[in-house]
Amino acid sequence: MQIYNTLSRKKETFVPMEPGKVKMYTCGPTVYHFAHIGNLRSYIMEDVLEKHFRYSGYDVTRVMNITDVGHLSSDGDTGEDKMLKGAKREQKSVMDIARFYTDAFFADCQALNIKRPDVVEPATNCIDDYIHIIQTLIEKGYAYRAGGNIYFDTAKLDQYYVFNDFDAEDLAVGVREGVEEDSNKRNKNDFVLWFTQSKFEDQALKWDSPWGVGYPGWHIECSGISMKYLGEGLDIHCGGIDNAFPHHTNEIAQSEAFLGHKWCNYWFHILHLNTSSGKMSKSKGEFLTVSLLKEKGYDPLVYRFFCLQSHYRKSLVFSWENLDNAAAAFHKLIARIAGLKEGGAVEEDAFAALKEKFLAALDNDLNTSMAVTVLYDVLKAGCSDATKLAAIASFDEVLGLDLIQKAAELRKKNASQSASSAGGYTVTGEGDPAIDALLLQRYEAKKARNFAEADRIRDELKAQGIEIADARDGVSWKRV
Ligand code: AMP
Ligand code: ZN
Repeated sequence: MQIYNTLSRKKETFVPMEPGKVKMYTCGPTVYHFAHIGNLRSYIMEDVLEKHFRYSGYDVTRVMNITDVGHLSSDGDTGEDKMLKGAKREQKSVMDIARFYTDAFFADCQALNIKRPDVVEPATNCIDDYIHIIQTLIEKGYAYRAGGNIYFDTAKLDQYYVFNDFDAEDLAVGVREGVEEDSNKRNKNDFVLWFTQSKFEDQALKWDSPWGVGYPGWHIECSGISMKYLGEGLDIHCGGIDNAFPHHTNEIAQSEAFLGHKWCNYWFHILHLNTSSGKMSKSKGEFLTVSLLKEKGYDPLVYRFFCLQSHYRKSLVFSWENLDNAAAAFHKLIARIAGLKEGGAVEEDAFAALKEKFLAALDNDLNTSMAVTVLYDVLKAGCSDATKLAAIASFDEVLGLDLIQKAAELRKKNASQSASSAGGYTVTGEGDPAIDALLLQRYEAKKARNFAEADRIRDELKAQGIEIADARDGVSWKRV
């Protein structure tokens, strides 16, 4: 596989340290609020990457942290403690907030078919591991004590800024959000490994350490958790592009200073989901969640499809119109799959040729939009329907769109609804069974005087750009 490595700033052939095995680490969510669909873009693309590795025959071990301590509102160690901010907002304890939003995060992941990593570890579970790393860093002269806190001394490194080909705007995130300068720091980009002197007198979670009672900085958790479960070397580390600096830069600094050798070979960064007013972010307070998409009548997998249609190394602009276009394309795709005849023999050669095309798309720096295009190539191919269904089922192991299951549901719905429409009610439109089925459901809802449901269906269709016109014995529809 060719994959872009932020470290070398070019596409490289992926070669894991141990043949056939991939050690993968993902920065997990900061659980002080719901994940927004921007965060989830990153987790969707990482999920596709993991599934592509598995599909290609690798044995993958994937580890993810849950940030439940230490992340301040600026990535540069200033501002408020995010967990405390969440706890105050909801008048709950930090632990309650962490538990609630961790569960909410995994519920969102489930709705989006994002597989749970093999190891999920809350940062607060590994305090001793961080203390051990920090102690070693002090002994080796890479860390110093000032004002009661322990800092990493970035001046001790030959090269601190290891990533520098991303947007200056992204690079500035940590610094820009910072409001106060920390006068304890010897160098501007030194970062906190352990806080004891904190301005958060009400900090709920504190632990004993050789340097006094306190809590770890944000960056140390990923180094500690990764080494605990994956050892001294990592094949690939993932996160959104805002994590590259300072978070990943600091992870590399402290891990390599601790280990005395290179730590991680490939760095996979996902560009942001933006709205018309800029990057979607939790701290701005206004953001879109999976629950909101569901409330508005969207299948969460429509959002996954929307993400797959673009490349992870390009910013993606979210708008309702763009999502509606994805919804229309997704439902049409399902309807076309539902139209394939089940049963019969799979033509092995044709299947292998399609699979080769699909793998080639993803092997090219995870080109998911090309992989989606291959789905349409399958539908157009000259092979048997059984071959097409087998190919689609196989590719969906990576794409995670529930294509076969949704097509089967649609087939069942259409079959039962054609019976219930025998009363003379007809739907005329542009030949899309998914739309026809929804209009038949709307008719059934109206008959049952369930007008709320009938209106919901009308609104869902409207959101997909479908205009309907009721007649005495049926309904007609068209795309506008
Ligand atoms: P957080 O919960 O803030 O620690 O972020 C969780 C993950 O989401 C990290 O990998 C971030 O880099 C990523 N992320 C944050 N904002 C966005 C965005 N607007 N688009 C894509 N990924 C993002
Ligand atoms: Zn991390």
